[in-house]
Amino acid sequence: MLVNMKELLSVAQENNFAVGAYNIGSAELLKVSLEECEKNNSPIILAVHPDELEYLTDEFIEYIKMRARNSKVPVVLHMDHGSNKAQILRAIKCGFTSVMIDGSHLSFEENVKLTKEIVDIARPLNVSVEAELGTIGNLGNSAEGGAAEIIYTDPTKAKELVDRTGVDTLAIAIGTSHGLYPKWMKPELNLKLLKEIKEYVNIPLVLHGGSANPDNEIAEAVKLGVCKVNISSDIKNAFFQKTREVLKNNESALEPLLIFPEAIEEGKKVVKHKLGLFNCLDKASLYNRL
Ligand SMILES: [Zn+2]
Repeated sequence: MLVNMKELLSVAQENNFAVGAYNIGSAELLKVSLEECEKNNSPIILAVHPDELEYLTDEFIEYIKMRARNSKVPVVLHMDHGSNKAQILRAIKCGFTSVMIDGSHLSFEENVKLTKEIVDIARPLNVSVEAELGTIGNLGNSAEGGAAEIIYTDPTKAKELVDRTGVDTLAIAIGTSHGLYPKWMKPELNLKLLKEIKEYVNIPLVLHGGSANPDNEIAEAVKLGVCKVNISSDIKNAFFQKTREVLKNNESALEPLLIFPEAIEEGKKVVKHKLGLFNCLDKASLYNRL
């Protein structure tokens, strides 16, 4: 079933688990995350970045929606990192049930203004809105981009932004980056700051750049109130490592249905592992009343 983010995450918040938001940049990656979540009876957020939408085309979204409607698990179709009104309107027109407006690079006042404008458009259409305050780092190997410098989220400003915009979810910066970390770099989440933000903000919190962080920190962040974790690079990395290996072992391979299944299986192992960290296994049954 296709639901919006507010419906999905209110249940997650109540029951102390998080739902993964997986970037769907191709039909194969859609299979990876959706099939694995269905197998484990887990709710799912399908995230499409504006660049990914450009590549996939609006018509492909029709296929995703049909697939989601026919699914036994709750599915949110979410625009990841929309940066302007045109991108958000395109997503809403396509039938996304949730959009992110990323004004994190703007001044605080401009971020509030843009976010409020999007909430006013989306709310009457039953589309949820995610805002971002603070900046997520950029490791240079992910389509989601990010900032050169991480600016940690200020808890009182977070409350002010939520109060003034009426946004449904808030992405916070507590030390994560988009992409995969180089070997010499040890990511560390500021969980103390997460606790503080949680004291000020009641809506579900979102963690971007959730790939390659220590498992225990992600699991702890979920316990402390993060309800959505964005995962992109970890799955793509597993998927494409295996794809490269398959092609290397069979240089004359031509058929997608022979090349991709092993890579899809590798991606699914990552999804299964994340579902455990998020305490999300078998949580679709909590949505039967929807
Ligand atoms: Zn992100």
